[in-house]
Amino acid sequence: MAVVVLVENKDGKILKSSNEAVYYASQMDADCTALTFGNVDDSALAALGQFGASKVICNTAIDGHDNSQLALWVSQKADALGASIVVTAHDHGGKAVAPIVAAKRNAGIVSGVVALPDTSNGFVVNKAVFSGKAFAQFSVSSDNKVLTVLPNSLSVETTDGSASVEKVAEEAGASKVRFKEFRKKGTEGKLDLTEAEMVVSAGRGLKGPENWGMVEELAENLGAATACSRPVADIGWRPHHEHVGQTGIAIRPNLYIAIGISGAIQHLAGVNGSKVIVVINTDPEAPFFKAADYGIVGDAFEVVPKLVEATKNILA
Ligand SMILES: Cc1cc2nc3c(=O)[nH]c(=O)nc-3n(C[C@H](O)[C@H](O)[C@H](O)COP(=O)(O)OP(=O)(O)OC[C@H]3O[C@@H](n4cnc5c(N)ncnc54)[C@H](O)[C@@H]3O)c2cc1C
Repeated sequence: MAVVVLVENKDGKILKSSNEAVYYASQMDADCTALTFGNVDDSALAALGQFGASKVICNTAIDGHDNSQLALWVSQKADALGASIVVTAHDHGGKAVAPIVAAKRNAGIVSGVVALPDTSNGFVVNKAVFSGKAFAQFSVSSDNKVLTVLPNSLSVETTDGSASVEKVAEEAGASKVRFKEFRKKGTEGKLDLTEAEMVVSAGRGLKGPENWGMVEELAENLGAATACSRPVADIGWRPHHEHVGQTGIAIRPNLYIAIGISGAIQHLAGVNGSKVIVVINTDPEAPFFKAADYGIVGDAFEVVPKLVEATKNILA
């Protein structure tokens, strides 16, 4: 069986969620080809072998900004390689490209899968539903299949394997959109929230934007990204790209520290896939404590500086 995986990269660096998608595909006992695009170092491409890819094809004629073009190329490669399964990460890029690939290949698609398919009786995959509160099993009967893998849902084990790397310049139809420029909004040098292993987040309990220094310091000591609840972004205390939840970004870090956030269902919807949740809140009845692995009932203005000190001492 052959599987192809769409591997995304940002500024030439392979995304963690894509490494996970490659690992997922390789665990299907399949010949796994990773497909990526643009300008990526040969060594970064070969490193995909450690996640289970046997072959990597990088198309330098595509920059990845046109999802239709990328989907067409991925479909063409899957056809050429005789791959019945296409895998992507369930992230911004994967979510955009996977449905187009499914339509082009007349494939059944399951998005946000959290486990390997069970092939003992057909092809059955598990996906998280209701914001991670339940799981549903989908049986896929079409010959071609597309799966998007929920980030951070697998324990990835790397090997010292390496992949053969091929750079190609293959046109995949004329692009219908033209990429003009990329403008960053004050996020330079900061950790990408969706890729971060640890996230320190705060809410309205912090009273005002002037109090975020300790949150940023704690995040920096831990090597974590910062996030916030929606009202905090709406009032303008923090930028909107930090807002997590149902209407914000959905994240699944290994550690999520929530400071002065009530834990409303709309906030939990975006963070309850986190592996370990630590909640700091003055109100012992705050709903967030029900979702927490560890809880501190206390004033953020007393607790957070102590955590900053403790993490600083560990770093020293
Ligand atoms: C359609 C819809 C979509 C939404 N989408 C989102 C979303 O994506 N993300 C999101 O976050 N919200 C979303 N919301 C809003 C959500 O319902 C809540 O209103 C919001 O999450 C509350 O933010 P908060 O916890 O920061 O503030 P609050 O509800 O005001 O809670 C502040 C918390 O801080 C605690 N606190 C106060 N002082 C301190 C202190 N000194 N130390 C420690 N703790 C303290 C309080 O006990 C309280 O629990 C949405 C709402 C709707 C209707």
